Formats: sequence, structure tokens, C-alpha cells
Amino acid sequence: MSILIFADQAQGKIKKSALEAVQYGAKVAEQLGTTATALVLGPVESAELETLGYYGAQKVLHASDARLHEVETTVYTKIIAEAAGKEGSKVIIFPSNFDGKALAPRLSARLKAGLVAGAISYPDTSNGFVVKKNVFSGKAFANVNITSEVKIIAIMPNTFAISAGTNKATVEAFTPAINDADFKVKVIRTETVSGEVPLTEAEIIVSGGRGMKGPENWGMLEDLAKALGAATASSRPVADAGWRPHHEHVGQTGLTVRPNLYVAIGISGAIQHLAGVNGSKVIVVINKDPEAPFFKAADYGIVGDAFDVVPKLTEAVKKYKQ
Ligand code: FAD
Repeated sequence: MSILIFADQAQGKIKKSALEAVQYGAKVAEQLGTTATALVLGPVESAELETLGYYGAQKVLHASDARLHEVETTVYTKIIAEAAGKEGSKVIIFPSNFDGKALAPRLSARLKAGLVAGAISYPDTSNGFVVKKNVFSGKAFANVNITSEVKIIAIMPNTFAISAGTNKATVEAFTPAINDADFKVKVIRTETVSGEVPLTEAEIIVSGGRGMKGPENWGMLEDLAKALGAATASSRPVADAGWRPHHEHVGQTGLTVRPNLYVAIGISGAIQHLAGVNGSKVIVVINKDPEAPFFKAADYGIVGDAFDVVPKLTEAVKKYKQ
């Protein structure tokens, strides 16, 4: 009865979200006196797979089938269910990112398993199997008791710190019972934006809101981001207006980020935005309105016009770095 962890990969590289899920799963396994098995789908080098052991997986089940290089939810769900059956897993862990959010509910329906999505705690097994999650955009918590035999937990990204050990995992090849007819959706083209730091893994994020007035002013934020070695993000209205791509939007309906430094420029600090950023270690807010709600969540605040403050800040950062 091993704990099964869905460890996601992109272009053959294990993602940080997978490491978080594996380490979380390993801790749950320790708690329950069992082992942790990571499941990796798609082509990934064995040396890369073994490193999942550093995060607590004893074993890695690897389905190297090239057709699995991209997430296809129907096929993936079928395979994860098969792997769970093979391992006799009663607890299955996912990252609560876009893929995890698509897969965990499907698996939950398939296995008739209770699911907690967006978990922010380890299960408390002193009285049931209780997992904590944020509700109402982080305004409140819910402690959810999963009473079904099979339990699924999708963990909130950037919430559980990871640290690497030295034990390598054993890699076991896994050939799931799938055929071409199982692939209902075919990915024809994927677009990757090169040269950018992935938002969910960025240590520093420079983020802009409607106060930036328009997409033509983003160069200013990009200059600051470049000087700081940061990724860029935005509030939701900015993405809705098409000023920035949707994959940059953070908050309740976007990405959850947890950088060391989050610089919010011309963002009011609505609760739905804060829900995605309030785990950041240090928050700096630049806003011309001293009453902007974001200042309440800020570690440092600058009341001023972004068009005046940001270029000066960029110059100061560049000078400091010389
Ligand atoms: P505004 O609220 O318009 O704020 C702009 C800010 O810029 C103001 O504080 C203003 O003082 C300041 N400003 C203006 N000019 C300047 C200047 N020259 N210099 C400095 N500052 C300036 N929002 C998200 O961001 N992410 C989400 O995931 C999200 N999910 C949502 C889900 C639901 C169900 C709902 C109802 C809403 C959601 N929203 C989300 C929207 C959210 O409620 C806010 O409307 C949004 O965050 C506001 O974006 P903003 O701060 O960029 O714009």
C-alpha cells in the first residue's frame, strides 16, 4: 500500500511542483508507515527520475511512452488509476496546478475517492483523515475529513518547502494498458516563451495592474524585472484586457506564487489577487493611492506614481548591482 504521487514533467524535465508533491507524499507515507511511489508519464531520462529519491520517493514508476509527452487528461487519468491499482495505493497526491486540477477530480470520480484540492496541511490522522485548505480566497480555512477508502490530495503550489537528500529512487518501467483509441485529444502545437523565468518557480516577481494604463507601458516593468532577474506577472483585468498573456495572471483564478520578493505596481490589492500572492516572503507595493488595500499586505510600500517611481527604482537596482 504505497502512497502514489503524480510527478509532473515538462519537456522531459521534472517540475518543481512534482518535487513538492513527492516530498509531501513521502511525509504522508512516513506518517502512515508506508512507502512513496512517484508516477512519471512521458519520456524522461533515468538519471532525472532517480533524483526523485532525493525528495523521498523510494520508487519511480515510469511510463516512457512518447505519446505521453503532453498531458492528455483522459489517458492520464486512466493510467494513474491503473498505477494506483497496481501499487494498492489508498492515498494519491497531485500538485494543485493546472494539470493537477484537471486530473485529480477525474480520478476522484473514477475511483469514487474523496478529494481535497488546494491542500495547505499534512493530513491529521488523530481523528479521521483531516486536511486543511483555504476557502473564500484565503479569508477562511476548511478542515476536510476524507472518509472514503481511497483519498486524493492536491497540494497548493509553493506552500510546502522542499529540501533534497541523497538517496536515489529505484526506477521501474511501467507499461500501462492504453492504445491509440484512448487518445481523444491530440496536442498539435505548444508555445513556450523562451528566456523567461517560469512564474511559479521565480524567486522574484514584478507584477503590474490596471494602474499601468496599457500594454505599451510594460517595457518599464520588464526593465525593472530584467534588472532584478525577475519574472513578470499581472492582475487579472490586465490579462482579460489582453495587455498581458493569461499565463501571467496571478490570484484566485490564476497562478499561486510564493516568491522571495513580489513587487506589485499599480495593483489595488483586491482579495482575489492577494489569494495568489500572500505567501510571498516580502511584498513591495507601489501605488499612487495611499488608501490602496494592498498596502495592508505590504512589507514595504511606496506611495507614488509608478511612471515616476519605477524607472528610478530600476536605475537604483542597476547601480547597486554594478
Ligand atoms: P484596479 O482595481 O483598477 O487597481 C488599479 C490600481 O492602480 C489602483 O489601486 C490605483 O490606485 C493604482 N494606480 C493607478 N494609476 C497609478 C499610477 N500611475 N501609479 C501607481 N498606481 C496607480 N484579480 C486578480 O488579480 N487575480 C485573480 O485571480 C482574480 N480572480 C477573481 C475572481 C473573481 C470571482 C472575481 C469576482 C474577481 C477576481 N479578480 C481577480 C478581480 C479583482 O477583484 C480585482 O478587480 C482586480 O484584482 C483588480 O485589478 P487591478 O488591481 O489591476 O486594477
